[in-house]
Amino acid sequence: MTTSENLFARAQELIPGGVNSPVRAFRAVGGAPIFMQSAAGAWLTDVDGNKYVDFINSWGPMILGHAPAVVLDAVREALPHSLSYGAPTRREVELAELLIEMVPSLEKVRLVNSGTEATMSAIRVARGYTGRDKILKFEGCYHGHGDSFLIAAGSGALTLGAPDSPGVTEGVAKDTLTVPYNDVPALKAAIAANPEQIATIIIEPVVGNMGLVEPAPGFLAELRALCTQHGIILLFDEVMTGFRLAPGGAQQLYGVTPDMTTLGKIIGGGLPVGAYGGRADIMNQVAPAGKVYQAGTLSGNPLATAAGMAQLRYLHEHPEVYTQLEATSAHLADGTRQIAKDLGLNYTVNRVGSMFSLFFTSEPVNNLEDAKKADLPAFGRYFHAMLKRGIYLAPSQFEALFVSTSITDELVEKYLGACRESLLEAHGL
Ligand code: PMP
Repeated sequence: MTTSENLFARAQELIPGGVNSPVRAFRAVGGAPIFMQSAAGAWLTDVDGNKYVDFINSWGPMILGHAPAVVLDAVREALPHSLSYGAPTRREVELAELLIEMVPSLEKVRLVNSGTEATMSAIRVARGYTGRDKILKFEGCYHGHGDSFLIAAGSGALTLGAPDSPGVTEGVAKDTLTVPYNDVPALKAAIAANPEQIATIIIEPVVGNMGLVEPAPGFLAELRALCTQHGIILLFDEVMTGFRLAPGGAQQLYGVTPDMTTLGKIIGGGLPVGAYGGRADIMNQVAPAGKVYQAGTLSGNPLATAAGMAQLRYLHEHPEVYTQLEATSAHLADGTRQIAKDLGLNYTVNRVGSMFSLFFTSEPVNNLEDAKKADLPAFGRYFHAMLKRGIYLAPSQFEALFVSTSITDELVEKYLGACRESLLEAHGL
């Protein structure tokens, strides 16, 4: 028995499913999860001493790879000054300044401790501001595990085949409307059927949680126009895409400015941070400026803000990071597409910036229904074939790959070599 297997056996006795977040359990692909020991740059080392090139990067935060000196030094510097005060600090002000400078839609921002907290808080504010109860989300988008979002949810919920969770009350469910992604007629119909009742439309402007799905040309602009026309708050959930697809996120890349934005992952540099913000008149509803309540004992935590600030400042001062990520990711995604084509598989590869997915279907993937056409058993075999060759991918077809600046040309070649062999193995070719 390996150390990983041993730990997983123990974990299953103690922790539901043996993990603290469902996708980690490898349920969709079979087998036991790998327990990690350490990581540096592009490389993960597990508790048995095996090494893997990391294409998950903690599901997004490690855009500079693991343990970058710039972030570690900032945390080291902050460390001796206590781990929490529960009182305001200078760095919270500086981080807010930087977030507002970089993200087009932000005029005011509040820090929280996770993406889930950010989205839960944001919709409360949207409801408080508009006096309306309903929210609209898109099928297959994931916005954290808040009750309202566990309707037609993507990511782990979708992977486990439970996009609607028990424990969410009927009352909450009836206030969440869902329509297919990229479907303007369905969107218009839902708005028309619920006049002056929708507080907010929440969307992943580029979806990472059903695998990578791009907004159709003009879709975000149309959504923006509809929200303005109907007095609905447009909320971009940029927990994954923020500071990844561009310094100002997907809203900068596509030139569409929402009313509110949620952030997470990269803004904490690997420590637990989230944020929500937007127009000042909306954010002024939040306590103690306004009456919508939201609070947090550890919010604005000194280590988390030190890590986040260091990473964001680096990204701000080094825009060439995005040029590098674009080139590396194009090489990876185009290479993957070509290999699949050479093998007669013609699989779909979707990519935006440093996020991409290989879908095990030859049809285009523009929404959840399309993504579900993928050959999931073949994906599972591919995942394990890649793992065996030292490539660590997300253990689900319904997740994206996240590329870090630590992926060198040599590692791209390693990935592409493994990809060819693994596709052959997965299909018995
Ligand atoms: N929104 C999006 C778009 C996400 O991808 C995630 C997590 N992957 C969340 C919200 C929730 O963030 P967290 O896991 O930090 O609660």
